[in-house]
Amino acid sequence: MKSLCVYCGSNAGARPDYLQAAQQLGQLLAQRQINLVYGGANVGMMGAIANAVISAGGHVTGVIPADLVDKEIAHKNLPDLRVVNSMHERKKLMADLSDGFIALPGGLGTFEEFFEVVTWGQLGFHNKPCGLLNICGYYDKLLDFLDSAVEERLVRAEHRAIILQSSDASELLEQMADYQPPTVEKWLDIRTS
Ligand code: AMP
Repeated sequence: MKSLCVYCGSNAGARPDYLQAAQQLGQLLAQRQINLVYGGANVGMMGAIANAVISAGGHVTGVIPADLVDKEIAHKNLPDLRVVNSMHERKKLMADLSDGFIALPGGLGTFEEFFEVVTWGQLGFHNKPCGLLNICGYYDKLLDFLDSAVEERLVRAEHRAIILQSSDASELLEQMADYQPPTVEKWLDIRTS
């Protein structure tokens, strides 16, 4: 992987572990010469990961809609900050620029962005790996819920398996490198009413 998209909170969260995990992932990406693609803000965990990559000598691409440049306090020291016209353009460009996607703990924006790329993978629009970096068990309940969606036959087990997970960044990167995309159709049974 040459370029990785990281979604994460625009807040720092309640635990110091979250910011620390963002910083550690940033250092790891810089060490491995993997370009960070992210939302271009200098707030919360988003700012923490970008600053960690820059401090460690790595490369960062920020992508931010013009409307959010002031609200999310766009990062002023990014050599590669792309200001786009809409949230849709932001998400498309971030996805196009990246070879894989990781979500650190985050809020509604993080969930939306991560699940969008997962569902694009489910539909076969891309074959790139998607992983949750599950710090302090933040995503445990979500992972349980996904398992229950499989039991309820509303998500295929093969599509549930698109979502890789680990509490350890290096381990998650290894899983992502070995990722095999699903080969099944999205629909469990096609019935018309
Ligand atoms: P959050 O996880 O809510 O702290 O937000 C993290 C990032 O997601 C921020 O850069 C938000 O601008 C972005 N975001 C918020 N809402 C959306 C959305 N509907 N679609 C895509 N990104 C969003």
